[in-house]
Amino acid sequence: MNIILSNPRGFCAGVVRAIDIVELTLKKYGSPVYVKHEIVHNQKVVKEVEQKGAITVENVEEIPNNSVVIFSAHGSNPKDFSKAKEKNLLVIDATCPLVTKVHNEAKKYSNDGKKIILVGHRGHQEVKGTMGQTSMTLIDEREKWTLDNIKPDEEVAVLTQTTLSVKDTSKAVNQIKRKFPNALVRNDICYATTNRQDAVKELALKTDLVLVIGSQNSSNCKRLQEVSESLGTPSFLIMNPEEILPEWIEGEKTIGITSGASTPEGMVQKIVQFLNPSNLTSIDGTPENITFKLPKELEKEKKS
Ligand code: SF4
Repeated sequence: MNIILSNPRGFCAGVVRAIDIVELTLKKYGSPVYVKHEIVHNQKVVKEVEQKGAITVENVEEIPNNSVVIFSAHGSNPKDFSKAKEKNLLVIDATCPLVTKVHNEAKKYSNDGKKIILVGHRGHQEVKGTMGQTSMTLIDEREKWTLDNIKPDEEVAVLTQTTLSVKDTSKAVNQIKRKFPNALVRNDICYATTNRQDAVKELALKTDLVLVIGSQNSSNCKRLQEVSESLGTPSFLIMNPEEILPEWIEGEKTIGITSGASTPEGMVQKIVQFLNPSNLTSIDGTPENITFKLPKELEKEKKS
């Protein structure tokens, strides 16, 4: 069996920053530290930070007054900040700076008098946070939509969730442009999503099967699986070697392996060890050297 590893794969700068924030907050304030929503969408990462003293909750209401809370990398609704203030919580915001950029665009264009259209997946945590920034219309490209609520002569700005499929988003944006030819369109799909999707396209064309390693609730991982399948290469999204069915790998096959932006590299290596290939190679992808600054409350902690 041959295995080809995708590149880039795994952690992005936003995920590294979010995990650092939890660890440094625990170091500075001690346990427990509350985390609103899974810090990133990977159960292994969530479990590890919980073992170190973090407590994951879904809502601010669940957190005792006067506690320390970290808001997850996906971004939060401003109402959550208000509720936290009422409870006298110390909030450390782990929102990825590339999600904050979308929040700022939404507020700016709305202040400029434009109608905001957000292309994103209904119910995803990032979309919930972005939708709370200002009034906007959500277009979920998996659903039927009309945009009849916006008059043809109104100025429109189109923003996107950061972790969507590049191809499906471009289709949705083209449809919106047919209705609003002068729409201002921001490409908010982040570098990590774009690079991992570009790489999996190359991987899918060279392999018989693509295994995406990561969590089912990771938008990033799901999109990698879809990109592979759209090119005719079967793909499965798994966390552990035990999920691999014998029929997926029987025969002389070349298997591609990739992982989403929230998947630790150790999970990939566990799968490689289990499959024990006779030949292990990797594709060259776009090099990544992006890092994000920590929130100012934790900068000193990092240095010490
Ligand atoms: S996937 Fe993109 S937007 Fe999400 S945390 Fe990573 S860099 Fe930020």
